[in-house]
Parts: sequence; structure tokens; C-alpha cells
Amino acid sequence: MSDPALAFRQLSYAYPDGTAALRSVSFALAPGERVGLVGPNGAGKSTLLLHAVGLLPARGAVLVGGLDPDRVPREVRQQVGLLFQNPDDQLFLPTVAEDVAFGPLNLGLSAADVEQRVATALAQVGLTGLGAKLPQHLSLGQRRRAALATVLAMGCQTLVLDEPTANLDPGGRRQLLALLTQLPGALLLATHDLEAVLQLCPRVVVLRAGEVVADGETAALLADPELMQRCELEVPWPLRR
Ligand code: ADP
Repeated sequence: MSDPALAFRQLSYAYPDGTAALRSVSFALAPGERVGLVGPNGAGKSTLLLHAVGLLPARGAVLVGGLDPDRVPREVRQQVGLLFQNPDDQLFLPTVAEDVAFGPLNLGLSAADVEQRVATALAQVGLTGLGAKLPQHLSLGQRRRAALATVLAMGCQTLVLDEPTANLDPGGRRQLLALLTQLPGALLLATHDLEAVLQLCPRVVVLRAGEVVADGETAALLADPELMQRCELEVPWPLRR
């Protein structure tokens, strides 16, 4: 069997003020697997995603492709890309194209390769022709897709996404979900949008107070009224009887 794309092994984390945000979290994503990550506010979803890309120091382990990124070259860590909930945290240069080029330039690629990566990533997210735009002149849906392009341009095999559909209008949400469906890599989708999880992810991990309380088939777990209530969630409409 091939190594998991991303694995958390007994991962615990407390913020410097002592808040225990993760308690011995263990699960893994197979290559190409799409997994939803759900739970109430404060469950630890964002904290887990920050660990996935090495932005917080791990107690326990985060493995990428079966390797510990702390012990192998940076390229391993770069296989995982994080889409922040707020695209403005990810877009900080004057134009969309410059933002998308930023990562590949830092990889030391040639100007021609960078240009190619930018064009491909913008095409993937449906923003061809908008590279010269100022990010603040784009709609929220377009800014989210531009932020996604910055990650795709890095060639990440695995994406972890923090509330990608939050505050989008129905059209923007549909567009984003259609785009995510087409991406080939493994995907960890942290969200309150349970219908999006149902649509996109055959498997879901439920976090509560920093602990995994359920991990299994999405349609079965999200249809469980007792589990949903315990986690301050609601059975999504398509699963209600
Ligand atoms: P979620 O994404 O599921 O809403 P978070 O990962 O944001 O959960 O938060 C998990 C826990 O860690 C919560 O109790 C939250 O209050 C706490 N927390 C998050 N960020 C910080 C921080 N920078 N300092 C202290 N506590 C934090």
C-alpha cells in the first residue's frame, strides 16, 4: 500500500496561553482522498490545518507522503498547501499574477517556468485574463480562487482548506466546489458547510474539543442526529428523514 498523502499521529497542541487545542489526534489521508473536517467553533480545525503545513510546532507527528518534514528537505513540506479562510491573508502583492508567481519564484524557477505556472494556475481556477487585476478589485469568490491559484502554482499534491465556502454567494460556492471536485490531489476540507462535505468528501472526521470523536463514511456520520447534536452541528437537509 502506498504511503498516506498526509498523516497526523497522536498530535497534541496547546497554545502558549495554555489552551489545549488538539488532544492526540490521529488520522491519515490516502493519496487523492478527500476528507471533510467538521466540528463546532473552537474544536481545533484551524489549529490542525496549521500543523498540516508546519506553521505550528508539533507534539506528536505530521507525516507527508510517509515522511516527517522536520527531518527531510523542505520540498516535502511544500507538498501540502493551505488555503486560508480569509483570502486577504494569502494575497498581499499589487496584482493577482504577482501573488500567484510569488511561491514559484521562491522555489527558484526560471522566469519562463514561473510564467507558465501562473498561467496554468489561473486557468485552473477560472481566472485567466485577470492576472493584472488588483486583488481588492475582485469579488470574494474570485479572491478565494486567486488564493487557491497561489497554492496550486506551488504544485502541492495535497490541499488543506479552511472554510473555503464561507460567505460566498450560491454561485461562487457552486463554482468553488466544482473546481475542488476536479483537483486530483488529496484534500482536507475544514468547514461548517456540511452539504459541501457531503458533495465532495466520501469520508469525514469529526473533531470536538480537540479530539477526534468520529471518523467514517460522510453520509452515515452526518445523518446521525445524536452525533450532530453532541457536536453542535445539524444533519444536512439532503440527509434528513
Ligand atoms: P476551530 O477552527 O475548530 O474553530 P481553532 O483551531 O480555531 O478551532 O481553536 C481551537 C482552540 O484553540 C479554541 O479553544 C480556541 O479558542 C483556541 N485558540 C485558537 N487560536 C488561539 C490562539 N492564538 N491563542 C490561544 N488559543 C487559541
